[in-house]
Amino acid sequence: MSLATEKQNMSTDKTSAAAGPLISVEGMKKYFPIRKGIFSRHVGDVKAVDGLSFEVGHKETLSLVGESGCGKTTAGRTLLRLLEPTAGKAIYRPDGREIELFKLSGKKMKLARRDLQMIFQDPYSSLNPRKTAGNIVGEALRVHGIAKGAELEDRVEQLLVRVGLRSDSFNRFAHEFSGGQRQRIGIARALALEPRFIVCDEAVSALDVSIQAQVINLLKDLQDELKLSYLFIAHDLSVVRYLSSRIAVMYLGRIVEVGTSQEVFQNPRHPYTQALLSAVPRPDPKRKMQHIPLTGDVPSPMNPPPGCHFAPRCPVAEKHCHESYPETKQLSPTQAAACHLL
Ligand code: SF4
Repeated sequence: MSLATEKQNMSTDKTSAAAGPLISVEGMKKYFPIRKGIFSRHVGDVKAVDGLSFEVGHKETLSLVGESGCGKTTAGRTLLRLLEPTAGKAIYRPDGREIELFKLSGKKMKLARRDLQMIFQDPYSSLNPRKTAGNIVGEALRVHGIAKGAELEDRVEQLLVRVGLRSDSFNRFAHEFSGGQRQRIGIARALALEPRFIVCDEAVSALDVSIQAQVINLLKDLQDELKLSYLFIAHDLSVVRYLSSRIAVMYLGRIVEVGTSQEVFQNPRHPYTQALLSAVPRPDPKRKMQHIPLTGDVPSPMNPPPGCHFAPRCPVAEKHCHESYPETKQLSPTQAAACHLL
């Protein structure tokens, strides 16, 4: 059976003529229980992701940005069920079908993962240095029984060339490559099963700036050519500008602002987005933004502050900000933010 046919048959129990975004996430939560004492009593939760809702369209890039510890990596992993969700719903819509990812059995989720791949942050620790590039990229083809022998070698060589590596890279060990080249191997590995959706988890954060630009260009070219959708996770807003269709800003497990790349960069409405953007260097010296310092660290998701979670660090917080969490307000057809002052 061809890979395409198997993908068609992936879900037989829930199909419909579904239109809409490729991925829709509603109220996704991922809590890590805290247990204490000899009876492992449940005494609380680390609320890493606390009710996230977002959509990623066909051939679209949604960037999820925020400081370290805001829950964005946990969100990406939970969506692909590398971590089991605590609550919520994630719908995947390939070819007019509708698949509820969080309800799939292990076997069906394994099939779904052919379409839903991940590129990891650290190209040094995410690739086994004792394996060759050919083994790493070909592993998924072997595990899923899609290709073997000469056919597998051919496909892997094509993938290595497609991501900008030499075809004779097949037999070289991962430790022989530079950081940028290793990340290209990680991208080839993610592409091996012809996915439609890729979570890029800080995929360029560990690379030098010049290499970052090359890898971002490669991801953009691959998106155009293979009609891919990306959830691009990053802590650095300047990195996501070129690649993103839309940007969602996360703070302490929740989205505080979402909008098109242009809206978020030119007219950020949430004080946290404004503070993040004020630290981004601007190419046009006439369009200077007043620097808004972010003091203190992101509070612990184990014990989030009452009211608006950003209130202890917000430069314009008012009394009621400390009392109730703000509702998300729609500011344009594509921009929304959660702040009492809007
Ligand atoms: Fe700042 Fe209040 Fe808006 Fe929160 S709700 S971002 S504390 S102004």
